[in-house]
Amino acid sequence: MDINKKIDGISSDISRMSLFNRTILRLLIENGVFTEDEFKDVLIDIDGEDGSLDGKITKKKRASSSCPKCKKTIPLNRDTCMYCGYVVHTDEDVF
Ligand SMILES: [Zn+2]
Repeated sequence: MDINKKIDGISSDISRMSLFNRTILRLLIENGVFTEDEFKDVLIDIDGEDGSLDGKITKKKRASSSCPKCKKTIPLNRDTCMYCGYVVHTDEDVF
């Protein structure tokens, strides 16, 4: 796939998500669910949970991973445990 088409698609997705987020935020504030200051306070709290106030959520890099089933240490780039075959999900959930 052409890299420029891929970048254009991602930019378009981000613009659409930004529009949706602004729409939802405006509706929540206008309907009294929370104030803009409350939103900003929680946003700063969540931003800092990854150890860096940088305006985004950064995935934490783990030094090692252990299999949830057999508990043996396995490389982070594996999707399955090489000892017992357990399917390991390496992507950390955002939430
Ligand atoms: Zn295992």
